Amino acid sequence: SKQSGGTQSCFYTNEMEQKISRKVLLESGLRRALERNEMKVYYQPQVDRDGKGIIGVEALLRWTHPELGNVSPSEFIPIAEETKLIIPIGEWVLEQTCLQLKEWKDRGIVINRVAVNISTIQFHNTNFVQMVRRKIHSHKLPPSSFELEITESVIQDSFTAIPIMKEIKAIGCNLSLDDFGTGYSSLRYLKDFPLDTLKIDKSFIQTVLFSEKDQAIVDTIINMAAQLGLKVIAEGVETEDQLEYLKKNVNIGYQGYLFSPPMDAGNITTSMIFTEVK
Ligand code: C2E
Ligand code: CA
Ligand code: CA
Ligand code: CA
Repeated sequence: SKQSGGTQSCFYTNEMEQKISRKVLLESGLRRALERNEMKVYYQPQVDRDGKGIIGVEALLRWTHPELGNVSPSEFIPIAEETKLIIPIGEWVLEQTCLQLKEWKDRGIVINRVAVNISTIQFHNTNFVQMVRRKIHSHKLPPSSFELEITESVIQDSFTAIPIMKEIKAIGCNLSLDDFGTGYSSLRYLKDFPLDTLKIDKSFIQTVLFSEKDQAIVDTIINMAAQLGLKVIAEGVETEDQLEYLKKNVNIGYQGYLFSPPMDAGNITTSMIFTEVK
């Protein structure tokens, strides 16, 4: 009827308005988040094949909005990208990881590598490579301690991306391809791009026990990466069964809730993994 139709459109309008006002709130909040100390960087361990030692950590940004509480990066990162705020925010994340690596070193905690997520917008920003070089040098850290994680969308435009990737490699940083298999995957990427690591997206890991076809995909990615001399990290490992399946591969590292969630830097210790995995 006319009436229910009216109610319905009214309902949708409210829902849309709510979405828009949340977005406006997030956007204006993002502009002030750093100066108000609302952001911090969490770290999630990456574990070697035996699950015994930390081979590195991934830096993952956290934001607590004064009214909205914790906002997920999957919600605010796209807004930060749209507004280009990801450029100062991304620079801040890199600065934090530099300070953190030094702090761990001072405490005698051996963390040899930190993986930092780099947005496509950030990667293609003119001053990006210079900024990375300057930060690492000013903190006197070994560039090889850094692994920059890019996604397939970065390298869609290979003509521009390859020279930038080469400059990053020339600094001495490592490069990894994040969320592999979810984007515009072309196997050509793996041959032409100066990558060190391939991160198999968690969606593949979470279905690896479902069917032989899912297993064939994961096995193929791992074998191909090995043939191309790339390290592999399986993301989103949540269960012993998934780990058991993946373990048959020699050249692999893991990251996931089975080992540890992302956590405050103060809770990371070099020996923590021994207690988590049998
Ligand atoms: P990502 O780079 O793929 O990061 C992995 C995500 O998987 C993280 O979500 C992590 O908390 C989550 N995760 C880890 N282990 C497991 C597991 O066992 N199971 C499941 N289901 N999830 C797991 P998070 O921290 O919410 O970050 C979401 C995304 O936001 C990241 O995905 C990344 O794309 C982006 N992001 C986070 N921090 C930054 C940053 O500093 N800069 C940029 N540009 N993007 C960031
Ligand atoms: Ca990542
Ligand atoms: Ca990922
Ligand atoms: Ca992702």
